[in-house]
Amino acid sequence: MRSTLTRLFYTLSNLTRTSAPLRNTYSLRPGPPQLRSSMPIIPSFIASLFGTTAASNMSSSSSSYPDQRTPDEWRAVLNKEQFRILREKGTEPPGSGKFDKHYPTTGVYTCAGCHAPLYKANHKFSSGCGWPAYYDSIPGAVTRHEDRAFGMLRTEIVCSNCGGHLGHVFKGEGFPTPTDERHCVNSVSLSFSPDDEPVKKEGGEGEDKSKV
Ligand SMILES: [Zn+2]
Repeated sequence: MRSTLTRLFYTLSNLTRTSAPLRNTYSLRPGPPQLRSSMPIIPSFIASLFGTTAASNMSSSSSSYPDQRTPDEWRAVLNKEQFRILREKGTEPPGSGKFDKHYPTTGVYTCAGCHAPLYKANHKFSSGCGWPAYYDSIPGAVTRHEDRAFGMLRTEIVCSNCGGHLGHVFKGEGFPTPTDERHCVNSVSLSFSPDDEPVKKEGGEGEDKSKV
């Protein structure tokens, strides 16, 4: 009887001994357990603010783009803002872009990174959103990706030739255009060529859709 009690006491004190240091650790430092649970959330949110989460989406699909330049090679040909937007999926401030209120009658908007023709002048319309808006692109010039950054589901658009980030495409907003789509594109991602030469080289198929 006494030996059983002793054993029981020994067992209990053993239990206490093993759990006590743990409890002390948590009560002395209340920070770490909280940090541990929030750590994976905060950095990924911050990362998405600066586009690094989106950049990881890129790596899964970047192998499919013909232009395979490395980040260092892009840095050599792009200015800081172009690199931030095209290669790190940044966004220019609304109303700041040189093509926001640019409405030529002819010409082609090309990728500021690789110069692939993306949009024709007559694809552009006034959306009032603060960024250049196009209702359609040159066929095949723009590739769409699901973008879940910022807790939203959006459709990202990139240059099909180099994977450079252009902006997003929105559908069903009610604009009086043939597609009811709005390609919301950063001016920084674009260059403009006043003649249609870049499209003719590509086969010039864009004409059919713009006549509809
Ligand atoms: Zn490109």
